[in-house]
Amino acid sequence: MEKVYDVLIVGAGPAGVTAGIYAKRANLDILILEKEFIVGGLLNFTSEIENYPGFPKIKGFELSQKFEEHLKALNVPIKNGVEVQKVKKENDIFIAETNQGIFKSKSLIYGAGWSFVKLGVEGEEKFRGRGVSYCAVCDAPFYKGKKVAVLGRGEIAVEEALYLTRFASKVYLLLLNKKLSLPPHLEKEFKEAKNLEVFLGVKPLKIDGKLFVEKIVFEYENEIKELSVDGVFIFAGLKPNVEPIKDLVETTKAGFVITDENMQTKTPLLFAVGDIRDKNLRQIVTACNDGAIAAQAAYKLLKYGKV
Ligand SMILES: Cc1cc2nc3c(=O)[nH]c(=O)nc-3n(C[C@H](O)[C@H](O)[C@H](O)COP(=O)(O)OP(=O)(O)OC[C@H]3O[C@@H](n4cnc5c(N)ncnc54)[C@H](O)[C@@H]3O)c2cc1C
Repeated sequence: MEKVYDVLIVGAGPAGVTAGIYAKRANLDILILEKEFIVGGLLNFTSEIENYPGFPKIKGFELSQKFEEHLKALNVPIKNGVEVQKVKKENDIFIAETNQGIFKSKSLIYGAGWSFVKLGVEGEEKFRGRGVSYCAVCDAPFYKGKKVAVLGRGEIAVEEALYLTRFASKVYLLLLNKKLSLPPHLEKEFKEAKNLEVFLGVKPLKIDGKLFVEKIVFEYENEIKELSVDGVFIFAGLKPNVEPIKDLVETTKAGFVITDENMQTKTPLLFAVGDIRDKNLRQIVTACNDGAIAAQAAYKLLKYGKV
């Protein structure tokens, strides 16, 4: 018979890590399941962080490492490389079906965040890892002195393009949106970037090349344009990773999970935390907040039957 944990935590981003810390310190029998082989979730795709208290300026991967050290210091058990595919509830027990078998628990804290949206442009899949990237922080150093295009929409695409200007000789920012309004700190950097050329309201047609990306073709102001580039970075948005729990929760139209103030979903003892949750501010500090509240609520519900 499989072991039944007190709490299974899905995802080791800021929300899941914090839930792990609080649940472990409450002496619960827990396990974190994380599909990647690193801790930190989206932190690993973030260059500089300047709004997490205690760290006036820290690189995303450095904060991830600190989170991992914290888990180790408290002996919080984590299994990496485990992707949760489906969560069911039978006779008050959660059953998480994964690529590494089945895990069972009395409560489940789900913090699987979002994923990058693919644009579905011709060549996007073919050249993935051969010039097409979804992570400037991870891949920018490969494009030192080269030409790249950033294809996407909104502030995220601009932020990533500006990051790439520090490495590439030329960055073409191809925005799907026709208008752009930026917060003051980005606006200044945006105006001052000398190696950045912006095209608003583009319709991407094709990413092309032989073995690696060589060019991008798009429609701009009713003309077909072609630019020679060595890489194409895509930032078209993020979609909530709600699929494994979607039968057990209520969501918004966009797929964000609706919870009460204890992070509990419509299924008792199933909690949703972090960016996956329907809320106004998706940040590291608010993800940590959710994780702490959910772990404490799980503890109280399991021990006393009420929060
Ligand atoms: C480019 C960028 C810059 C940002 N800059 C900042 C900033 O400066 N300051 C700030 O406060 N916030 C910033 N953020 C937001 C911040 O990163 C997020 O709010 C935070 O990471 C959310 O934490 P999370 O734990 O909810 O989700 P995530 O960080 O997304 O972590 C989710 C984890 O779940 C795992 N997972 C997903 N599906 C499964 C599954 N089926 N099974 C098992 N594991 C799974 C993922 O691999 C991941 O590790 C930025 C985000 C981006 C994209």
